[in-house]
Amino acid sequence: MTPTMAADCAERVAAVLAQMPDPSGGTTVADLERELADAFGVPHAVAVSSGTAALHAALSACDIGPGDEVLVPALSVVMTVAPLVALGATPVFIDSEPTTLDLDYEDATRKVTARTRAIMPVHLWGRMTDPTMLAQFADTHGLTVIEDAAQAVGTVRSGQRAGTVGAVGCFSMKDGKILWSGEGGFLLASRREIAEHAAAYRSHWQTPPSGSAPLTRLTTNSRLAAPLAAIARSNLDQLTALVTLRQRQTRQLLAALETVPALSVLTPTADEQWNGYSPLLHLDLPHPREFAAYLACQGVPNSTGSFRLVPCDTRPMFRGLGRPCRGAAHILDHTLAVILTEHDTDAVLDHYADTIVQAAASWPRTA
Ligand SMILES: *Cc1c(COP(=O)(O)O)cnc(C)c1O
Repeated sequence: MTPTMAADCAERVAAVLAQMPDPSGGTTVADLERELADAFGVPHAVAVSSGTAALHAALSACDIGPGDEVLVPALSVVMTVAPLVALGATPVFIDSEPTTLDLDYEDATRKVTARTRAIMPVHLWGRMTDPTMLAQFADTHGLTVIEDAAQAVGTVRSGQRAGTVGAVGCFSMKDGKILWSGEGGFLLASRREIAEHAAAYRSHWQTPPSGSAPLTRLTTNSRLAAPLAAIARSNLDQLTALVTLRQRQTRQLLAALETVPALSVLTPTADEQWNGYSPLLHLDLPHPREFAAYLACQGVPNSTGSFRLVPCDTRPMFRGLGRPCRGAAHILDHTLAVILTEHDTDAVLDHYADTIVQAAASWPRTA
């Protein structure tokens, strides 16, 4: 945060704190929801305590439960899959295309069964699936689309914003995401029933959807705390600046690495205005995962090296569910996804670039 942003944020949080304790919860969360709906150009936004909670409420609102199969890319994080398993549904992992990072719709088609109810595209690293292909696929098979747009705030593809393509779009405001509040999340919906269900679900069905009585369903508490909503509102005011900054940082780092042998920039297609969440490079080196881990040790944080990101279908609880998703594995094994924050100055980005250039030059070329 810049000092000006921090001052605005502190002022807003102080105003909320001055109202607390307030068992009614005040109006900050509702204000945030209205501003989110406006910012994304959708009728409804529901704020919750995390991105995971947003996915959970969204899946429940789409009536996903025991016996249902949900298509989810293996190129995802466990946070996408955990809520659907918690609701008793079965994840069916689908592959991704190594060259485009997009969903492998042929693989998805093969995996549709009579029990398939929904598809959850995960816009990992802010890169969005083709919304036309997605809509066509979902229509053909009668599936609900629930987007995990946790990393895709600000991405637009074919004129459609990430998180506004499906029945529900889910976002995280965890510290480190582009639009952050420390912890937090929200979902976007065009249909009132979905928003009402999600709002009821996040607070023990105390404010039920029309036609339902309060406290007649057992759900959970995943409300967003008012001080965090105040932080979110402050950052939401700066959303365009935050996304533009990330895009500029990513362009700068990638430009410095463009001519390095063995590294190639994974550029989005022309129809995508990418939020630049994470500079993405394909690694054409022996033992690329070890290279990413080495960079993490050298102070260049990245998805696979620092966080050991692996295809979700290879995690212990899902192993043996089906044929491994080779495209997703190839992507994760060969992609350097550098983790950025708004604090990363030109000097930090130059240091990352130098470290990567030197590491690539000295990396043994024989496997
Ligand atoms: C961060 C993230 C989540 C989970 O969000 P939390 O707020 O940490 O619960 C889910 N999916 C993706 C792709 C994420 O990046």
